[in-house]
Amino acid sequence: MVRGENPSPGEGNAVAIGLIPFGCSVEEELSFLPEALHEAFGLQASWCPAIPLPRGAYRKGRGQYLAASLLQALARTPPGKYLRLLGIADVDLYAPGLNFVFGQAVVGGRECVISLWRLRPYFYGLSPEGSVFRDRVVKEAVHELGHTFGLDHCRDPGCVMRFSNSIADTDRKGRDFCPHCRGSLERVIGRP
Ligand SMILES: [Zn+2]
Ligand SMILES: [Zn+2]
Repeated sequence: MVRGENPSPGEGNAVAIGLIPFGCSVEEELSFLPEALHEAFGLQASWCPAIPLPRGAYRKGRGQYLAASLLQALARTPPGKYLRLLGIADVDLYAPGLNFVFGQAVVGGRECVISLWRLRPYFYGLSPEGSVFRDRVVKEAVHELGHTFGLDHCRDPGCVMRFSNSIADTDRKGRDFCPHCRGSLERVIGRP
C-alpha cells in the first residue's frame, strides 16, 4: 500500500470509477464488473481505453510485473471525469518483499490495480468456472478500491477488506464490507 493525496467525492463532476485494462482486452470477459462496483460503492463505473503495460515494469528474473509501476502509469492518466481509476492487468504482479500481489492501491488516492492472473482457476490447474472467477474479480476490485477510499485491512474474516495472502483467503472472504468498514466508507462517499 502507498499513501497518497485523496481526491474526494463531490469535487467537480468526478463521480465515477474508470476501468483501464493494461494491454489486454477484458471488457467482455468482465462485463459484470461495472454493475458490481456500482452496487458496492454507489458510483458509476465504466470502461476506458486500454493502455500499454509500462516499459520497465517487467522483471525478467521473476517473470512478473512490478505493481507500483502500473500505479504510476495510472497516475499519469488525466483525471477526466474519473474519481478513481482501477487498472486491470492480465499478468502476474509483485511488490517488493512479496512473492506476488493480487492487487495494489494508493491508500486514500486515485489509483489502484488488480491482476487477473492468479484469480483464474486455470492458474491452479483447475478447469474454468465462471462464477468462481467472477467472485474473485469483484472481491479484489472492491478491496483495492476500498483502499483508495482510505480503508485499511480488516480483521473480520468475512469482510472484503480482509487481507488475502492466498487464493483460499480470497475465496473465504465475502464481497461485502463488514458494518465497520461500510460505516467508514459511507463517511467518505455517502450511502450507495
Ligand atoms: Zn489490501
Ligand atoms: Zn471490515
